[in-house]
Amino acid sequence: MSRLISVKQIESSSTTHGPEQKIQPRSFSGLYRRSRVSGGFVLFTLYFGVAWLNWDGRQAVLWDLSEKKFHIFSATFWPEDLVLLSGILLICAFGLFFLTVLAGRVWCGYACPQSVWTWVFLWAERLTEGDRSRRIKLDAAPLSLNKIARRGSKHGLWLLISLLTAITFVGYFTPIRDLVGDLFAMEASGWAVFWLLFFTAATYLNAGWLREKVCFHMCPYGRFQSSMVDADSLVISYDAARGEPRGSRKKDAASSSSGLGDCIDCQLCVQVCPTGIDIRDGLQMECIGCAACIDACDSIMDKMGYDRGLVRYASERELKGEKSNLLRPRLLGYFAFLVLMIGLFAWGVASRPLVTLDVERDRGMYRFTSEGNIENSYLLKLTNKDSSPRYLVISVRGFKGSVITGPGGVVVEAGEKVEVPFSVAFPPSLLDAGANDIVFEVSMLNRKGELIAETSTFLGPPEY
Ligand code: SF4
Ligand code: SF4
Repeated sequence: MSRLISVKQIESSSTTHGPEQKIQPRSFSGLYRRSRVSGGFVLFTLYFGVAWLNWDGRQAVLWDLSEKKFHIFSATFWPEDLVLLSGILLICAFGLFFLTVLAGRVWCGYACPQSVWTWVFLWAERLTEGDRSRRIKLDAAPLSLNKIARRGSKHGLWLLISLLTAITFVGYFTPIRDLVGDLFAMEASGWAVFWLLFFTAATYLNAGWLREKVCFHMCPYGRFQSSMVDADSLVISYDAARGEPRGSRKKDAASSSSGLGDCIDCQLCVQVCPTGIDIRDGLQMECIGCAACIDACDSIMDKMGYDRGLVRYASERELKGEKSNLLRPRLLGYFAFLVLMIGLFAWGVASRPLVTLDVERDRGMYRFTSEGNIENSYLLKLTNKDSSPRYLVISVRGFKGSVITGPGGVVVEAGEKVEVPFSVAFPPSLLDAGANDIVFEVSMLNRKGELIAETSTFLGPPEY
């Protein structure tokens, strides 16, 4: 027996959301949701797992604020490597531009932390308060023990996820094992507690309460993404030429026989939308590209026996019946720049000196030693960015008659910086009056050919 598929049969509750209405998105399964869940699972596992990974005897990824260095597996970056870290930001930015021109807001829908954490909070909401219709009923129900228990468990679960998120986040800036140990021993520092509370509150508010409002009002990317997509970008679109005029009809009824398009106006695409918009109104700033509406509409098309793809990834040109041009200059330009930036970054990391020398001359003037030589003092700052210790031999280039006071060699542990007080004295006969150039050299034991040099000033009397 044929039956009518209409708004009422799919969901008896309200289907559209006014601007100030609470959005209760309906959960829906499908290909894109599975991709989102798998991607989110990988990101979650990486986020929570990597913080606990150890590498070469220390935390694998740690932005050590007190020591001002950033460890990422065997590499250590120092403030002077800021240009390389800015390179990472540029690569991320151009990767995002490339993705946006190619396929709209895929980053927002699948990988943005705001979206991923919101999906997890929605899962917690479903677990404690039930599916969409139950949640809407619970919202409208008077206060009762059941309502208090469900709301309480939802907020408890949200707070727990927020706290774990905050501990992990802070654990990327201070060793996570020490942090958790201190928390259990109630010995965490005031700053650690402040940042834990701050990030717990931020996660709880952003993913639990603000949700899509963060995308609408706080995220700048949503604002300029519309200027980045072009007529050839693959964005989530409703095929109006195929779907209109919309209207309900009997199941299995061919759309042509009813004079209607393929859209049965069931509103399922609106109910599943986490931002509460109707994709049939065209590309909107509020659309985060999550593809939930594609899954929902495909299931309806299957039920009706119509072809899938009434809502799909499609370019504006394709929807107009024209040929899309995927390999267009703009996209290729972003791709070429992205490859160039990655290449430059890889070259920068591979060719950066793993041992650096910084020479600071003592502010005082020259001194005469008891032997009648002229002496200047320095502080040599040696940094080892390598993953293994380095034995460094210090010398002064060129002057044969110099007398060096200070260690001839020093061991610098992996990822460490040492400061070595160092004095050099010359017989006056070797010096010009006033300022002389002096070159400090650091060679590496067992690494022939690796040598670093830094020029400083040696002060003598203004005249002899
Ligand atoms: S576009 Fe698809 S899901 Fe949305 S109302 Fe039409 S048929 Fe239903
Ligand atoms: S319109 Fe579709 S893709 Fe855009 S946010 Fe809503 S459900 Fe996600």
